[in-house]
Amino acid sequence: MTNKMEVGILGATGMVGQQFIRFLEGHPWFEITWLGASGRSAGKRYSDAAKWNLSGDAPDRIRSMQVTESVAGNSVPKLLFSAMDASVATEIERAFAAAGHIVVSNSSNHRMEPDVPLLVPEVNACHLRILPWQKQLRGWQGAIVTNPNCSTVTLTMALGPLKPFGIRRVIATTMQAVSGAGYPGVPSMDILGNIVPYIGKEEEKMQEETQKILGTATSERIEPLDALVSAHCNRVAVIDGHTVAVSVEFESNPSQAEVIEALQSFRGEPQKRNLPSAPAAPVHYLPEQDRPQPRRDAERERGMACSVGRLRPCPVLHWKFVALAHNTIRGAAGAAVLNAELMFVEGLLDG
Ligand code: NAP
Repeated sequence: MTNKMEVGILGATGMVGQQFIRFLEGHPWFEITWLGASGRSAGKRYSDAAKWNLSGDAPDRIRSMQVTESVAGNSVPKLLFSAMDASVATEIERAFAAAGHIVVSNSSNHRMEPDVPLLVPEVNACHLRILPWQKQLRGWQGAIVTNPNCSTVTLTMALGPLKPFGIRRVIATTMQAVSGAGYPGVPSMDILGNIVPYIGKEEEKMQEETQKILGTATSERIEPLDALVSAHCNRVAVIDGHTVAVSVEFESNPSQAEVIEALQSFRGEPQKRNLPSAPAAPVHYLPEQDRPQPRRDAERERGMACSVGRLRPCPVLHWKFVALAHNTIRGAAGAAVLNAELMFVEGLLDG
């Protein structure tokens, strides 16, 4: 017997679903008791339904669990992590929320809806205050909460500490890992020894999600930050870790020491509340001239921290730097688990 909270995973067989399984293994509060996927996988043992793409094997307990079709029902836990294919996530996530489930989703489908929190808990935990409005508006017993696109999370973790300087304009150029495209992702002939300067809808997502995350929430709306954000998104031959080269213009013109101090001293609700998946420091400033690098820095703090380096004056805007975070952990499964932990301590998973 366990007194942990039972949780389920929608899209459990996919790339991010597997990261959820690995990230939740041994979690002090949550235990996976339900695995959902498509009708193609339903009824199969997990080990037969999923092609495990992570290092090592899936945990034995999970390997022998049966995968279920993604339909709300009595045996489905209240808290569900969602990593479903975007083509089906809208309707299925809504059906679960209507049936009383709390859906903590990775999919892009609901992120920009005005009554749905798009959380980076260190940066905008207060956006959860919109949830009662979402339930009232939609007549749901449950709710949907989302985490950002994997490149947006890198950018907003680095910009969050700098918000007090008044962010006016941002230019962000990404170098995104292939794991961000799921499995099998970009064909090897397209990416090896190459760069693909296009990721469908990624630039639009990064621009508008950044404004929403850095915006201000009332109990009935989220006012996006009034800053211009321009993103260039590129796929590169890296396995894990999205790197973003950023230039920023501020309302004030902080000194280099002030920017570094803001990054290094930054702490948010997950750190104040000592949440199990919270990195001790959300942002690590690296003084070495050639860091951060995906192979060396993506796994920092279990893949939950953002690494920032190369802060230097920008001749066009005020400051430029390089930021890096792990795209399938901090940019997907780990982000959603941290959101759920915050909701747990806020009492939003009760009842
Ligand atoms: P993926 O590997 O293609 O996995 C998709 C999952 O959706 C599988 O479990 C699949 O189940 C399930 N699914 C497909 N059709 C379904 C249906 N009709 N009903 C129920 N489940 C269905 O994709 P992924 O890379 O893990 O991405 C999952 C989601 O997370 C996407 O929305 C993506 O945009 C988002 N995301 C991905 C990343 C990343 O780094 N990869 C980061 C952030 C967000 P079957 O195996 O049964 O087909």
